[in-house]
Amino acid sequence: MRPLVFAGNWKMNVGPVEAREYLRAFFAAGEIPHERSVWFFPPTVSIEAVAQGIAGHRNVQAGAQDIYWEAKGAFTGATSGALAKQAGARLTLIGHSERRHVFGETDEQTGKKVTAALAADLQPVLCVGETLEQREAGDTLAVVTRQLAAALGGRDGKTRVTIAYEPVWAIGTGRNATPKDAAEVHQAIRGWLKKQAVTAAPYVILYGGSVNLKNAAELLAEHELDGVLVGGASLDPRAWAQLVRTPAA
Ligand code: PEP
Repeated sequence: MRPLVFAGNWKMNVGPVEAREYLRAFFAAGEIPHERSVWFFPPTVSIEAVAQGIAGHRNVQAGAQDIYWEAKGAFTGATSGALAKQAGARLTLIGHSERRHVFGETDEQTGKKVTAALAADLQPVLCVGETLEQREAGDTLAVVTRQLAAALGGRDGKTRVTIAYEPVWAIGTGRNATPKDAAEVHQAIRGWLKKQAVTAAPYVILYGGSVNLKNAAELLAEHELDGVLVGGASLDPRAWAQLVRTPAA
């Protein structure tokens, strides 16, 4: 079996009390299958509860949904990489489409956040993806490579970064990319990473956008996908336990 990552982004759901209950229900289904990793991205207030709840479980990590690029100081409401790490995060999402489109995060800011994550020893999971308008204009690859270049350009080839390709039109809409659509973009991302040599191989590229129990097997049959980043369908611990056991060729 090839290694696969199942990342659950809880967005602004699941407080610390609920997180403990969630993990009890999730682990009641048993240990994570060999060669699979499960990453939880809870809201900041729940990182510590998740880190405690996953302790001792193989291949399971906690991450932040976002960090701020400054290390410390008068930045009310923000969380630095070091603070997230202290709470138990080992990874952080960067440039999630909701950060870009709801909060106005720019390409330049995602680059600063990648730098801050690496400085705090958090593994960045950089999210990239085009809007429907950009896809219809035939600009998907131009947008995605622009986002990659802004966040990763100029780094050395030892940098460990996971990429999540998340077309904006597929997030939380119930409309997912076909395996072929996703594979085409993943192939282009992999090609860009190889050519630019700004991150370390192996290149791990997840697909995200309305992945659920019904479509996960079909998507994961596509070998360009190294895993999935899942929002809505990661919120129910029993369904998520089932999803991370999806058979994949
Ligand atoms: C996400 O939040 O990254 C996501 C892909 O959401 P959903 O699975 O709900 O589309």
